Amino acid sequence: MSDADVKKVVIIGSGPAGWTAAIYAARAGLEPVVYVGVPKQDPGPILPGGQLMLTTDVENYPGFPEGVSGPEMMSMFQRQGERFGAKVVGEDIERCEFDPEGGPHTLHTSGGKAVRAHAVIISTGATANWLGLESEMRLATGGGGVSACAVCDGALPMFRGQPLAVVGGGDTAMEEAHHLTKFASTVYVIHRRDELRASKTMQQRVLSKDNVEMVWNSSVIDCLSEKDQHGSEKITGVRIKDTKTGVERELAVKGLFIAIGHTPATRFLRDTGLSFDDAGYLVLPDRSSRTGIPGVYGAGDVADATYRQAVTAAGMGCQAALDAEYDLGARGLL
Ligand SMILES: Cc1cc2nc3c(=O)[nH]c(=O)nc-3n(C[C@H](O)[C@H](O)[C@H](O)COP(=O)(O)OP(=O)(O)OC[C@H]3O[C@@H](n4cnc5c(N)ncnc54)[C@H](O)[C@@H]3O)c2cc1C
Repeated sequence: MSDADVKKVVIIGSGPAGWTAAIYAARAGLEPVVYVGVPKQDPGPILPGGQLMLTTDVENYPGFPEGVSGPEMMSMFQRQGERFGAKVVGEDIERCEFDPEGGPHTLHTSGGKAVRAHAVIISTGATANWLGLESEMRLATGGGGVSACAVCDGALPMFRGQPLAVVGGGDTAMEEAHHLTKFASTVYVIHRRDELRASKTMQQRVLSKDNVEMVWNSSVIDCLSEKDQHGSEKITGVRIKDTKTGVERELAVKGLFIAIGHTPATRFLRDTGLSFDDAGYLVLPDRSSRTGIPGVYGAGDVADATYRQAVTAAGMGCQAALDAEYDLGARGLL
């Protein structure tokens, strides 16, 4: 492979972070190539376009006063990147060889090719973990009242004043439940065990709320639903099973929020010299997108266990493209 084949910037991932990086990099003349990924289940659905492909209503992304569907928004991101010349490849990056001296770096694709790049932006996201029920995914993708993000979806009109359930027992579940107490008539927290894993402070914040009810030793085994007056399927309850006695019962709810953690898409980056925290999130050691390996940058949920929002991911994508542009210029590669 000659040096002429080395790409200036390769972006891995096509969610809000990846496409924002692509828009900035393309407008800066860096001719970015975006590996959008292939659809897979690992552990939840991973799709080109990212986690927003799983939601029908995005109401908190600035610039859309009437809201927008996740897939529509991601198609607009892509069109904007392509308008400035970003190239799209419908493959995964399966393995990376990062040069600790700064590159070129070599990426191996699911199509069996090796691609070299002076700068690599990792924006592979963090997949929400789901229960794995067919009814759950059907209602989540169809706007039927199942979600994996209470901060994103809890304020939607369909959930206001309604009984809602959160599944989980860690800090994330407590945060989600606490957020939902502002809107719900009752928030049921369904947990498999008889004690929570969440920190005592988080537990107290939630358990002190009048409209929270704990459902201990229980797991959700199915979502119940019926069609509303417009013919669209909405959740009406969950079937739960007592994890000690095996007894099953139904609980009427109008929304179900799965809060059993996220899995950052970093497995393919192990043994590359990058740093990860205990949960597998990419560590960015300074207040920039730089990973510590020159020419390798991180952006979006893959490096952010705290906020995990489309707008913060997009902001990090912008930072990564600007950092890459600056570094490539400083190294005389532009
Ligand atoms: C149900 C649900 C509803 C949500 N609603 C909202 C909302 O209303 N508002 C909001 O702000 N946020 C919402 N979020 C959160 C939001 O979706 C994320 O914060 C955002 O998508 C993160 O963007 P990202 O670009 O970092 O990663 P992602 O959007 O997760 O994109 C990751 C991308 O990387 C690709 N990829 C992964 N591995 C590879 C690989 N090895 N090679 C190539 N490509 C790869 C994937 O295909 C995907 O394109 C919601 C999340 C969920 C789950």
